[in-house]
Amino acid sequence: MSGQPFPLVLSAPSGAGKTTIARKLLALRSDVGYSVSCTTRAPRQGERDGVDYHFLTPAAFEQAVQRGEFAEWAEVHGQRYGTLKSEVEKVMAAGKHVMLDIDVQGARQLRQRFLNSVTIFVVPPSVEALVARLMGRKTESDEALALRLRNAVSELAEAEQYQHVVVNDNLDHAVALVSAIIDEETLKRERLPALGREVDKVIGRLMRDLRRKT
Ligand code: 5GP
Repeated sequence: MSGQPFPLVLSAPSGAGKTTIARKLLALRSDVGYSVSCTTRAPRQGERDGVDYHFLTPAAFEQAVQRGEFAEWAEVHGQRYGTLKSEVEKVMAAGKHVMLDIDVQGARQLRQRFLNSVTIFVVPPSVEALVARLMGRKTESDEALALRLRNAVSELAEAEQYQHVVVNDNLDHAVALVSAIIDEETLKRERLPALGREVDKVIGRLMRDLRRKT
């Protein structure tokens, strides 16, 4: 990979399809790694500890907070979720962009800690699509589902704080858009100081030669 690795923050209301986009991207790109978050919520069927999340007891989570182990953490839908500093460092040390699937509160904290973060908000195409995805998942109780839908309103209000917004009306297209954002951000001049200087030299030489000819 050329350029410096950066944190890639993906946020969305629950049910917008963000986690599926994240999984597909990880399978597609070898220059992106995943930051496995900690949570106090119970594992869903099929979720594996250390892969989908680090599942912690409330006491263990609190200990990690006290020890200053989190780059950010927040209470989301009545549970605590947090990104370990060590997860972010591990992925970036491997030279990869680190993808974080985190909520709007966490994204705000992370942007302040990592000024080079790239932030993407994923929007569902319609309320119907959001509800259908949440119901289809069958992982939440009626109460938890209602809470997630209520929270979607305040989460959507945060979309304008993000650098990029991707509408997930078609999964493959949404993945392609996020992938294009990564490429575009990787090539930004300020992220490529060495290459930026090279390009400036070439442009300088061209201008000098052109002036001589005119
Ligand atoms: P779920 O319970 O559906 O896996 O996740 C619920 C919400 O918590 C999602 O919006 C997800 O992005 C967010 N989340 C997951 N991990 C973290 C984290 O480490 N920090 C924060 N702030 N939010 C997280």
